[in-house]
Amino acid sequence: MKRSMDRILTTHAGSLPRPDDLTRMMWDAIDGKAPDQAQFRARIRSAVAEMVDKQAQAGVDIISDGEMSKFGFSNYVVQRYSGFGKPAGFVATDLGDFPEVVQKIFANEGGAHLRLPNVEGPIELKDPEAVKRDIENLKAALGKRDPDTAFIPAVTPGQMLFNFPNLYYKTDEEYLEAAAKAMAYEYRAIIDAGFNLQLDAPDLPMHSHSYAGSTGTKAVREHVPAAIEAMNEAIKGLPAEKIRLHLCWGNYAGPHHHDIELKELINPVLKSKAGFLYVEAANPRHEHEWEVWRETRLPAGKGLIVGVIDVLTNHVEHPRLVAQRLERFADVIGKENVLAGTDCGFGTFVGWSGCDPKVAWLKLKSLSEGAAIASEELWSKKQQKSPTTSTRQKKPAKAARRAGVAKTAHDATRAKSAKRARRAKAPRKAKRR
Ligand SMILES: [Zn+2]
Repeated sequence: MKRSMDRILTTHAGSLPRPDDLTRMMWDAIDGKAPDQAQFRARIRSAVAEMVDKQAQAGVDIISDGEMSKFGFSNYVVQRYSGFGKPAGFVATDLGDFPEVVQKIFANEGGAHLRLPNVEGPIELKDPEAVKRDIENLKAALGKRDPDTAFIPAVTPGQMLFNFPNLYYKTDEEYLEAAAKAMAYEYRAIIDAGFNLQLDAPDLPMHSHSYAGSTGTKAVREHVPAAIEAMNEAIKGLPAEKIRLHLCWGNYAGPHHHDIELKELINPVLKSKAGFLYVEAANPRHEHEWEVWRETRLPAGKGLIVGVIDVLTNHVEHPRLVAQRLERFADVIGKENVLAGTDCGFGTFVGWSGCDPKVAWLKLKSLSEGAAIASEELWSKKQQKSPTTSTRQKKPAKAARRAGVAKTAHDATRAKSAKRARRAKAPRKAKRR
C-alpha cells in the first residue's frame, strides 16, 4: 500500500452505508427470504460502483468496495463458510452497566438483523466464488485505477473466535487453526488480485471488556497472542506491505469505560506481521492514546493508520481538528508513517450505524480536507529547514523553546503539545518511583 511520501494519504475502515434498497435485500436474505440471486448480485455490483465514485468525490485516497456484498464486517463469513449454528449472545461489560443504552443502540431494524451465530461444526469454505465476485466488482468499478489504491477487508481467525463462540472444536487453539486455514484462501485471493488486505480484529482490544466478568488483562496474556499467531500463520508468505491490521474497541456508542488501554495491548499486537497497524484515535475514549507512541517505538517499516474521524456521532469534525490530530502523530512517529483514517466503519453491520449515512460522506470529505491542511503544514516551507525525519522535525520546536519563542504558529502548537506531554509524563514517572 502506498505511504504518505509527499502528503498524508487518506483511507477508512472499509464498511460504508449500503443504499436503502440493498439494505432491504440484505435484511430479507438474513431473514431467510432469499432475494432473486441475479438481481441481488447486480445490485451489489452497481452499489460498489456508486461507492467508488462517492469515495473519489470525497477525496479518499485508498478506498474499498464499502463491503456492499456483506451482512457485516465479521458475520459475512456465514455467507461463505460452513460450521455456523444457532445465534450466540454478545456481552460488553460497559453496556452491562447501562441497559438503557443497549436499547438505544440495538432496538432498531439494523440491530434486529445483527446475527452472530455459534460455531457448531467444522469451519470450511463453502462459496469460493464470493471473494472472487467482490474482486471483480471492485476491479470493474476502479476501471483503469491501480488496485494498490484500494483494499478489501476480511475478518481474522481471532475475531471469528470472539464473535462466533466455539461449540465444536475441542480447544480454542484448534478453532483458531481451522479458521486460519479457511480464511487464508480469501486473504491470498485479495492480494493476488493486486488489492491491499485489511484484517479486521476488534477482538484484540474488545476481548478484555466483552464477556461476563470481563477477561481484562487475561485476554492480553492469552487471547491476543493466540489470535496474532493464528493471523500470522494465515498470512504467511503474503507481502507485509499489502496488509493492514485494524483494531478497535467495538463500533457502538456505549460508554466504553471498561475499555482496555492501548498501552496495555500494543506490545503483543506489534508481533503481527501486517505492514500497517490501524487504530482508533478520534473518539473521546481513545483520542489521547497518540501519547502511547511516545513510549512505544513503531517498528521500522511499519505504517500507522490513525482514526481521526469519530464514526459514532453526527458531529462533523472540522478539517482543522483533523489536521491537528494528524500533526500530533506526525510529530511523534514521522509524517511518512502516518495515514489518515476513520475510527471504524460507517456500516459495520448492514443497516446499523452510529452516524447518519449522509453525514458519513461529509465526514469523509472533512477527513480529506483535514489531511490536505496537515500535509500543507507538514511539507510546507516551514518544514524545509528540517525535512524528512521526525527526529529532525523536532529540532526547530526545541530550539524555539530554548529561545523562549515560537518561530511560527506551527512551532507554537508543537511547543505546546510537547509541554503538555511532559506534564502528562510527570505523574507516571512519580508512580514508578
Ligand atoms: Zn473497527
